[in-house]
Amino acid sequence: MAAEPVPYRPIIGLEIHVQLATRTKLFCACPVEFGAEPNSRVCPVCLGLPGVLPVLNRRAYELAVMLAVALNCQIRRFTKWDRKSYYYPDLPKNYQISQYDLPLSHDGHFDIPANGGLKPVGIIRAHLEEDAGKNIHDLPAPAGQSGQPGYTAVDLNRAGTPLLEVVTAPDLASAEEAYVFATELQRLVTYLGVSEGVMQKGQMRFEPNVNLAITWDGREYRTPISEIKNLNSFRSLRHAIDYEIQRQLAEWAKDHDYVLEKVGKVNCGWRDDAGRTEIQRVKEEAHDYRYFPEPDLVPVELDDVWLAKLRGLVPELPIQRRLRLQQTFGLPAASTETIISDRATADLFEAAVAAGAEPTTLAKQCISFWSMHANAAGTTIAGLGIAAARLAELSRMTADGRVNPTAAAAIAEKMLTNKASPADIARAEGLEQLQDSAGIEAFVEEAIAANPEAAAQIRDKARKWEKALGFLQGDVMRRSKGSAPPQMVRELLLKKLQP
Ligand code: ZN
Ligand code: MN
Repeated sequence: MAAEPVPYRPIIGLEIHVQLATRTKLFCACPVEFGAEPNSRVCPVCLGLPGVLPVLNRRAYELAVMLAVALNCQIRRFTKWDRKSYYYPDLPKNYQISQYDLPLSHDGHFDIPANGGLKPVGIIRAHLEEDAGKNIHDLPAPAGQSGQPGYTAVDLNRAGTPLLEVVTAPDLASAEEAYVFATELQRLVTYLGVSEGVMQKGQMRFEPNVNLAITWDGREYRTPISEIKNLNSFRSLRHAIDYEIQRQLAEWAKDHDYVLEKVGKVNCGWRDDAGRTEIQRVKEEAHDYRYFPEPDLVPVELDDVWLAKLRGLVPELPIQRRLRLQQTFGLPAASTETIISDRATADLFEAAVAAGAEPTTLAKQCISFWSMHANAAGTTIAGLGIAAARLAELSRMTADGRVNPTAAAAIAEKMLTNKASPADIARAEGLEQLQDSAGIEAFVEEAIAANPEAAAQIRDKARKWEKALGFLQGDVMRRSKGSAPPQMVRELLLKKLQP
């Protein structure tokens, strides 16, 4: 007998670490530089040597506040720093400077697209903290020590890099929603310029909390909350959550005592190669970290003038821009997504419209050939480096019927390497639509003369004469190298081949 399906609802929250785009570290002047020679971007402060004093990077604080403002958070006017104690080789001080009871912001929301509308996802808090270094495992044994197993070395270049930790409410209902949240957040941070958001450099790392509410036999069961540590790709975020949902469901099905009250919270790692999570340990609670106020740093007081200045630096957000572009130009959702996918491209689109572009045609060209060329070059549409006025001109030529869409695509391809204007390229390549009926008429005469049988079929309205018309129309298009407007060709053929 087949088992009845068990009704369940995933409950998902995210903890996200976003690396802020500062030149130097959070509490010292060492440069933040990915891929530098290990342990070459360090100083006594980020090495945690005794007797040194941290000094707050003002820029990091400002970027953090800007992001918190964009997440609709309450901004605290008085914040302080705390030490979060734990022992790990990549943490030389044995504590991390973070924010505990007075984070710089709290109680916000970030709206994501869901079910054709917007879904607000609560932001519990966003606070500033320093990153740890990196343990590098499985290195070859040092010279002269053959036969040893793999070594682990510590690179402290990353220690002290500023991170904004964002903690969401458990408002996400599926792996897909978590994925959408993560990608929307990446777009937000790059729009704001507060982070480069490059996943490959670990500039955004995700830790989802996942459990299930299962309704069964008249009561609700909550499975133990799993915190999946340190996911650094959107793909692994989605897969790990999906895996964890199914794992918890299966565990509970075997044993209905697999519930939060009995098991507590668990930390898991994600094994990308194996495609599964691995339980690591029962999770620490806050008291295990032995938080206490950092005595070496003064609290930060954010006054009205400073906060107003930072609010002023927050630009129109992607979600607002999407709505405005759709409403102003009546663009379809798909092309708006492409246009707002990065800030520079959205700016370029609006500059082109200001320079006379036909918005709908330009939007179409963006989703067809411009994004195709951008993808091929591994960049954005703005990254192709074509001036707004040139984009505007090509869209206008297409909208006015001076070139047909196929010719427009050919001109666009030339524009990638040719600095000439689209009109000049069209002329040079013979891609302009013939506007004068005299020029087209000559091609029509030629086609009729070359195909007397087809011409006769049309004149006599013979069986399948429409097929013959299509054939002659094609022949004219070939002779004009696609420059004749098809409708005009058809009309001319019919006029000349009247019975
Ligand atoms: Zn340093
Ligand atoms: Mn953290």
